[in-house]
Amino acid sequence: MQYDVTVIGSGPGGYVAAIRCAQLGMKTALIEKYDTFGGTCLNVGCIPSKALLDSSEHYHNATHTFETHGIDIKGDIKVNLPQMIKRKDEVVKQTTEGIVYLMKKNKITTYKGVGAFKDKNTIKITKSDGVEEITTKNVIIATGSKPTALPFIKIDKERIITSTEALKMKEVPKQLILIGGGVIGLELGSVYARLGSKVTVVEFMDSIIPTMDRALGKELQKSLTKIGFEFHFQTKVTGAIVKGKEVTVSAETADGKKVEFKGDYCIVAVGRKAFTDGLGLENIGLKADQRGKIAVDKHLQTSVSGIYAIGDVIDGAMLAHKAEEEGTFVAETIAGQKPHINYNLIPGVVYTWPEVAGVGQTEEQLKASGKAYKAGNFPFKALGRARASMDVDGFVKVLADKTTDEILGVHIIGARAADMIAAAVTAMEFRASAEDVSRMSHAHPTYMEAVKEACLAATENRPIHI
Ligand code: FAD
Ligand code: NAD
Repeated sequence: MQYDVTVIGSGPGGYVAAIRCAQLGMKTALIEKYDTFGGTCLNVGCIPSKALLDSSEHYHNATHTFETHGIDIKGDIKVNLPQMIKRKDEVVKQTTEGIVYLMKKNKITTYKGVGAFKDKNTIKITKSDGVEEITTKNVIIATGSKPTALPFIKIDKERIITSTEALKMKEVPKQLILIGGGVIGLELGSVYARLGSKVTVVEFMDSIIPTMDRALGKELQKSLTKIGFEFHFQTKVTGAIVKGKEVTVSAETADGKKVEFKGDYCIVAVGRKAFTDGLGLENIGLKADQRGKIAVDKHLQTSVSGIYAIGDVIDGAMLAHKAEEEGTFVAETIAGQKPHINYNLIPGVVYTWPEVAGVGQTEEQLKASGKAYKAGNFPFKALGRARASMDVDGFVKVLADKTTDEILGVHIIGARAADMIAAAVTAMEFRASAEDVSRMSHAHPTYMEAVKEACLAATENRPIHI
């Protein structure tokens, strides 16, 4: 065999798997069908969306908070969207080129082309200049996902668009309609709301981010309303058409009423679907399920020995860091190690402002399981650090076992929640009690003091600052 391991797909699952395999001494190949490495996350997902979120947040602050901070900017403050998109493209370029460097550094052989199974040990690579075959002992499928389409809506990529087109807009929409109030809709909606768009969210469920602790969605809705979001819940989109520069989205409310929303652009963000097209799964006796997902066992091995699958293409949260953990897990499994992933402690983050982050059990999950728990809350407005920066929206909620005081869930909405949640993951991996955390020194003034205070509230209901 030419290779010990061949990885198909270079997203955060695939490239991390390849690096870990190489680190463990395996001869490794990586196949990617696009021109650049990094998959959805680096090219059209996590990184470009965060670049635009940061740029738009600067604009929002310049137009909304600078004056209060005592910063006078003379003249009109204008959005230069082409420059904003150009900066984003540069960030993406640097990041994807970083993967090329990492592949070279780790002596991973890379192929640009579509990888498909000829048989379980032979991969056919269709490249721009012909077809090549390689042989391999093991394969890691990391082919990721694509936006889900609604069968009754034609995405013209001009006015009715997906997240990919929303990352390279030519103008700031006046009225942006979001089909789906999930993570993509809220993040990209935030970008354009901060730049001046009115944003209408049409959401099938009764709240935004419904899989996170429900208190977070309620609080986030208040903050987003302040920057120009309007929400229509329990409203199911049934169609969308474009006439000239206008998009009309038709929908049905829970009580059967037909409604219409008009805007100049519409982003369809109703979830993502695992991607296995052209992979030749049939040649090795594998079949993806209805959602395109590949079934794996607890070692992330498919029903064919030596063929593994990771990331968005298998069950579970569609998150870059989940894919990365699985990449490492499979590499170590192939190397004969006994790795472990704690799926309960994979944090979820929404990069709106305030940011939203959660890990462990939600209050709804604890109630449903009948687990006796106690909750401690602490609002950011009671924190000196938050007042100093004027980021006073949000709170920390800590859920702990009623008897043992072990932390079962931490849910944060507030400035820098995305970074703060890592401390909660660490504490929970070490099975800390709320009291353990509340007795640890937290630097003052920091946002993390809110976590300490929420732990004090959970453990003995004795926060200091409220
Ligand atoms: P992908 O990143 O999708 O990579 C799969 C790769 O496989 C692609 O490059 C594809 O071209 C390639 N491929 C497919 N088939 C073949 C084939 N036959 N041959 C060769 N190559 C093939 N997650 C987060 O955790 N944080 C975020 O902030 C975040 N933001 C996001 C924002 C947006 C707008 C979107 C769309 C997603 C975001 N995500 C985020 C989700 C994240 O991007 C995915 O969970 C992650 O990329 C999944 O990684 P993966 O390796 O499984 O697949
Ligand atoms: P999502 O599943 O988060 O949200 C889709 C929403 O669309 C749901 O709330 C659903 O109820 C709604 N919906 C579905 N059909 C509808 C209809 N006909 N009418 C009205 N509403 C409808 O999906 P997404 O926002 O597209 O994101 C896809 C994936 O990408 C997610 O799994 C997410 O994990 C990942 N992602 C993560 C991040 C992050 O970690 N910060 C950012 C972006 C994307």
